[in-house]
Amino acid sequence: MAAKRRKRMRTILRNAKIWLGGDQFASAVLFDSSQILAVGTDAQVEAQRQNGDQIIDVQGRLVLPGLCDTHLHCYNKGCTLQNIDLQDVSSIEEIVSRSREYIQAHPDSSVIHGRGWNHDYFAEGRILNRADLDRISTRVPVVLTRACGHIACVNTCALQRLGFTGAIVQPEDGQIDVDEQGCPTGIFRENAMLLLKPLDPPLTVTQIKERLALALAAAARAGLTTVHSNDVTSENLDLMLEAYRQLRAEDRMPVRVVLQCTLTDPESLMRYLEIKEQTPSDEVLVFGPLKLLTDGSLGARTAWMRQPYADDPSTRGIATMTRAQLDELVSLAHAHGLQCVCHAIGDAAIEMVLDTFENVNRTSPDNPLRHGIVHCQITDSALIDRFASTHTAALVQPIFLHYDQHIVEQRVGTELAQTSYAFRSLAERGVAVSFGTDCPVEDLNPFANLYCAVTRKDLHHPEASGYRPEEAFSLEAALRCMTETAAWQSFEEGRKGVIQIGALPDFTICDQDVFALAPQKLKDVRSWMTICQGKVRWQAE
Ligand SMILES: [Zn+2]
Repeated sequence: MAAKRRKRMRTILRNAKIWLGGDQFASAVLFDSSQILAVGTDAQVEAQRQNGDQIIDVQGRLVLPGLCDTHLHCYNKGCTLQNIDLQDVSSIEEIVSRSREYIQAHPDSSVIHGRGWNHDYFAEGRILNRADLDRISTRVPVVLTRACGHIACVNTCALQRLGFTGAIVQPEDGQIDVDEQGCPTGIFRENAMLLLKPLDPPLTVTQIKERLALALAAAARAGLTTVHSNDVTSENLDLMLEAYRQLRAEDRMPVRVVLQCTLTDPESLMRYLEIKEQTPSDEVLVFGPLKLLTDGSLGARTAWMRQPYADDPSTRGIATMTRAQLDELVSLAHAHGLQCVCHAIGDAAIEMVLDTFENVNRTSPDNPLRHGIVHCQITDSALIDRFASTHTAALVQPIFLHYDQHIVEQRVGTELAQTSYAFRSLAERGVAVSFGTDCPVEDLNPFANLYCAVTRKDLHHPEASGYRPEEAFSLEAALRCMTETAAWQSFEEGRKGVIQIGALPDFTICDQDVFALAPQKLKDVRSWMTICQGKVRWQAE
């Protein structure tokens, strides 16, 4: 007996304010699990209704194309959801007490991880050290990572476990802080943090899946329907891909994922290219670009600058790759038709990446693979022009303004600060600008990101005038950075990030109408319902 062909579930959203771009709106949309089938007035869409269609009355709410975040880290977000959350701590005392509570609640942990601290907010006015962490535990290794992910502090137990007992040999591209006696203070910077890896027991696919699933659920709850997630590395390539493949096969991906893969040697890059080649294309789990890191963070003064830091002339930050290493990997990816996106924050790092892109694009100056720079923070006007002349995409984080606007002048001086975080200038020169949050560096809430893009203010002071308000996006332009342009970045324009017949059935339904709100209220908007692949993935109570 032939199996009865299962009919695709169809859904109609009605009584809605559906944004079609510009000042165009519709009130109803019909879709199945693979595409949008009709858009129009309630009556027009009602006319196409069939028996069995699910009807959702959204009570006049605003429906946007599903929002996309073009750079975050799902796996790390999942870890922070499982580990000690140190965001918003305002003192070392608070870190100690919160960590002790965590140990009491998780007595069997063999290593304690926490993330999210920022010593600029500490009442004690200094950075963490191992003596602070020894007050948390002397029996179990404790690793507490700064919000930026570029600095970690460990306790003495961890140092002993790793064999850091005698003289310290400094690693390349990183730093282990030492005191006057030459003993480690507990602080590890940039690639020195890789030396902490042996503290952790080997990961299993099941553990990775748990963490990814937590993060993907958080993304759906926040109103995202696609995330470009940077989780795969040379070290975890097979495990991480397997975890994602299993989640996909088990239909446990409430949002679409474009993988950004940090492959730092030619062998693992070639292996990824081979796997990508053999994998049938899929619109839920996309094998995306090579993602390389070329410097650190501004907060930690590890962003690589052309001039010394204004508030610490002893350093220009850290280049985490040489130009030769960058050229080799980008050329290899480019030769195989693979897009490259590179983390670059300081002006020296940005310049190096632009040089590399210009070099690989010698015979294709319009940058057909859409290579891009992630972060793009410290720029002078010549660098901004070079983004445009090299057609380099900019994957920026407006939410970084929340914190960075309070440190950028101290770090780089008034003059350079005046041309930095120039996201609107980039867009106006024709650069493809898309938005991400770099979560867990910042929260993945797309409406907080939207608020920062449109107001240039920090989240706590909507009454302030904001940082370089002339760089603020219009609401509509900002929404395009989270929809259409984000889709362009993964070669999905026309299919994703728009509401039209034939496009993917992904929608973010807002609990408040962003077009009717004062800009400073945008940060308070939440997803009322998130629909991805035509299914409701999150719904507010
Ligand atoms: Zn990142």
